[in-house]
Amino acid sequence: MNESSFNPVTDTIVDELRDIVGPSYVVYGDADKLQPYSHDEIPDRHYAHMPDVLARPRTAEDIAAVMKLANRDRIAVTPRGAGSGLSGGAVPIHGGIVLLCDRMNEILEVDEANMMLVAEPGVVTAEINERLAGTGLFYAGYPMSLETCSLGGNVAENAGGGKAVKYGVTSRYVLGLEVVTPTGEIVQLGGKLIKDVTGYSLVPLMLGSEGTLGIFTKITLKLSPAPRSSVDLLALFKTAEDAIAAVPTIMTEGGIVPTAIEFIDRNAVKLACDYLNETLPYQDAGAMLLLTCDGPTTEQVEREYEAIGEQCLAAGGIEVYVADNATTTERIWSVRRNIAEAAALLGEHQANEDLVVPPAAIAELVLGLEAISRKHDVFMPAYGHAGDGNIHTRIIKRPETSIEDWQAALPGVLREVYTLTARLGGRISGEHGIGHKRKAHMGQFVSEAYLDLCRSLKKAWDPNGVLNPGKIFDL
Ligand SMILES: Cc1cc2nc3c(=O)[nH]c(=O)nc-3n(C[C@H](O)[C@H](O)[C@H](O)COP(=O)(O)OP(=O)(O)OC[C@H]3O[C@@H](n4cnc5c(N)ncnc54)[C@H](O)[C@@H]3O)c2cc1C
Repeated sequence: MNESSFNPVTDTIVDELRDIVGPSYVVYGDADKLQPYSHDEIPDRHYAHMPDVLARPRTAEDIAAVMKLANRDRIAVTPRGAGSGLSGGAVPIHGGIVLLCDRMNEILEVDEANMMLVAEPGVVTAEINERLAGTGLFYAGYPMSLETCSLGGNVAENAGGGKAVKYGVTSRYVLGLEVVTPTGEIVQLGGKLIKDVTGYSLVPLMLGSEGTLGIFTKITLKLSPAPRSSVDLLALFKTAEDAIAAVPTIMTEGGIVPTAIEFIDRNAVKLACDYLNETLPYQDAGAMLLLTCDGPTTEQVEREYEAIGEQCLAAGGIEVYVADNATTTERIWSVRRNIAEAAALLGEHQANEDLVVPPAAIAELVLGLEAISRKHDVFMPAYGHAGDGNIHTRIIKRPETSIEDWQAALPGVLREVYTLTARLGGRISGEHGIGHKRKAHMGQFVSEAYLDLCRSLKKAWDPNGVLNPGKIFDL
């Protein structure tokens, strides 16, 4: 199977697409209208590629018909949610059809008796908890992009986020999926069941499959009892070293698993504060930890956050602020959520990285990144889900560096970043995925035997290789 030999989209195919999804839901021959679907949120437009046509299906049957057509004529199809991805997963690198799931945006059922919810893939993640308000239930997924990303994209990337230390990542909550296979069959995987060993567990296989094994059309989520009390702590540390060294010990020595432990170095806080015109007290701090405790009673949460606050001070914290009301909490989390947006404004000459290491190695990773940044004189704000061992860094060209020097330097910087991560037993992505952005580096982190298993799976499910080709690995 040759991944690059796809057929072009012809006028006849466009007419067929119009018949399937409706004439007003196809965009063709209009570069301005197609351009937004040529990229995701990777700032570097070098990763972009224009689609030939955009189709906006409403039902699983629409998608199945598109997949049958794509197989018949060997046309590439790239599923797309909200396009907030950071690895190029939704970028149609072979052109063809972009299948945008935005019209499939309904929460179909809130099943309080089973503590479950069924939704279509185009539902914006934040809408789930808005819908659950007042039910005593909540969905624990909390990607920092929750106001813009969609549930389908969260499943496809197995999104993590700000509450994963206690609640885990998306895969913990997906019980069932309706999926259109790459060849256009509609299948039900799993369902409203907490336990199910009726055959192979294919639901987990779909989590993180980046739109290469199937297109999700209905998603059944497990809900949790909403915590009745929640408090955030903002702990300031003189140096990044003090802050990051405190992270593993908070859990291992305190015997408490907080909901969130986010690390933000001074550069990252400053970027987001400037962007939001916010005035967090970061000026004297080299880094800060943002911690959340939540639980069923105020007393329990109070006990936990006081113990954690004391631990932060004992670990060298210079100040610990307590945010126990919705306004202050939102102010702090808004800073955390906007770091990526703020950094993206520094221009397209930057690499966004999503490194993950065993939790106890997090300090070594952050200090190693600082050393690489100093050695190469590149701007590298670091932040992220430190309690999960997951750090984001952006390697950003300084304004005074020429584009030529930057392009010559970046591969070397990345090599050192990845070598450090691999030495610590880490991996190249904790939550943003591989897409086509990181695919060339997979071999440094996984074996050829593993890749061969993935390739045989892909070939069995997608014999014509039409669904999101060129992502994660080459065939
Ligand atoms: C500011 C910012 C903050 C972020 N914070 C986080 C974070 O905290 N945690 C985190 O995990 N990520 C984060 N991300 C990355 C991104 O938001 C997530 O990867 C998100 O899950 C992508 O969802 P989306 O709907 O935008 O998907 P898209 O970008 O549209 O697509 C992502 C992938 O999903 C596939 N896909 C989309 N819909 C379907 C479907 N219905 N069926 C099958 N495949 C599909 C696409 O083909 C693609 O491979 C952040 C991004 C930004 C810009």
